[in-house]
Amino acid sequence: MKKLFKTLKIILLTLSFLILTIAIGIIWPMPKLVPPVKYDTVLIKSINIVEVKTGHVLEKRDVFIRENIITKIDSSEILIEDANTLVIDGTGKYLIPGLWDMHTHSNQHSPWLHHPLYIANGVTGIRDMSGQLDRRDSYWVGSKERLQWNAELNMHKRITPRYVLQSSYQIDGVSSIPDGFPSFFKIEKPEQVDSLLQFYKGEEVDFIKIYQQIPEVSYRKLARRAESYGLHIAGHKPMFLSLEEAVKLGQRSFEHGRIFMFEAFPGADSLKNPNNWKNAFKKSKKSMVQDFNPKKAVYIMELMKEKNAYWVPTLQTLKFEAFADNKSFLSNPNLKYVSWARKKLWWSFDIKNNKEKNVSPESQGLSLAFYEAAKEQVKMAHDIGVPIMTGTDITDTHTFAGFSIHNELIDLTESGLSNLEALQSATIVSAEYTKLDMQYGSVENGKAADLVLLNQNPLEDISHTSKIHSVIMNGVYYDSNKIEELKTFTESISSKFHMNVKVLYSFLNSPLIRVQFAD
Ligand SMILES: [Zn+2]
Repeated sequence: MKKLFKTLKIILLTLSFLILTIAIGIIWPMPKLVPPVKYDTVLIKSINIVEVKTGHVLEKRDVFIRENIITKIDSSEILIEDANTLVIDGTGKYLIPGLWDMHTHSNQHSPWLHHPLYIANGVTGIRDMSGQLDRRDSYWVGSKERLQWNAELNMHKRITPRYVLQSSYQIDGVSSIPDGFPSFFKIEKPEQVDSLLQFYKGEEVDFIKIYQQIPEVSYRKLARRAESYGLHIAGHKPMFLSLEEAVKLGQRSFEHGRIFMFEAFPGADSLKNPNNWKNAFKKSKKSMVQDFNPKKAVYIMELMKEKNAYWVPTLQTLKFEAFADNKSFLSNPNLKYVSWARKKLWWSFDIKNNKEKNVSPESQGLSLAFYEAAKEQVKMAHDIGVPIMTGTDITDTHTFAGFSIHNELIDLTESGLSNLEALQSATIVSAEYTKLDMQYGSVENGKAADLVLLNQNPLEDISHTSKIHSVIMNGVYYDSNKIEELKTFTESISSKFHMNVKVLYSFLNSPLIRVQFAD
């Protein structure tokens, strides 16, 4: 009896200790990342400007910036009138507009785990592809947080890329909405579509993120009605309709490398059956690659060009699947920037699944073939004139905030885009998509000075986009020391016990995560 009592006491004490440790982890204060000094005026001397629209390099130009707007570009020396102007020697450097990652997923911890890395990698704008329902989620962020971050960036209170468009929650029909939320989010019936649009308009959202299981009739209505609320639709190809139809209905962007593969193979119709599409997809993967019908794909690509529908192939996600059994691919040096919680509790399962797939006799080499096929289709689509945007799908497995955009640019050139065309996809093409191209997307007079100074010319080798000398954003100059500080900040915080407890706690508490593990 005494022994039992003692054992119980030990168990209770251990449990209390554990609960206390976790509670401390949750409430442990987060460090604050303070933006460096802001300059009202900045002068970059004698820099080579990469004109992303034409591919010309304007050599040895002086660039004057006032209140984060480029106000003068001159081939002769610009004289400083104000002693407080920051002067940067640009000799031998190359100036490009800040890069935009057009497919990301931020969460409540992004200010610590992702934002510093975006800036350190020259990513000054992102289109986040997830959102919330009618209340704050413990894990995902919505338009409210993102707009607040944007405002704080402009007030010089926060280090963050600009969130260039605001997404809704990924709309995916009945199963993606947890109990206790308004039923219109399910859009089971087309009558609910207007309530959904009205709601997101009120949330200052720009687009409805489409996910694959969205009911067909509701999708049609959503596509037709979105514009009257000042919204558009973007995201996955809806499963129950053809890509052709979705393009005709006006979906403005399509995500991921598989969209043409889904459509241009003999069994495409089998994927449109609402009862078995997941199963059908698994069974069809081989045929999608082997029996790919380029004629069909070309027809849809031409239609996309005509309707100005954009494609974000997010090749990094397919690349991960293709190389999930490759040790050297998996030993990425940027893993040190990723929280333990994410690596162990999310990525490791994904790696294991994909590794098993890759080595199994029935699907060996299939993911690699899928990735290679997607790259060929990027070239096909681009040649036809489909606008391509750079997206990485951060925080998907083995994608790294900021770093991955440079890999995606390399993959785009390996697909067949020129260095200039790849650079355009992350700058002017993306800015045009958002209709913010009067302010962003190129180094020009009157445009925002969200800029990256490179040590080498990216038109000679696209991997030079990662040879970053410094970043200028919102009047703040991130030189090599500051860039190192940003990286060190995230590296340090991502390994902290309390950070990992917070990530885990927010993850487990999210009703959205429980029903929809979206990409
Ligand atoms: Zn995604």
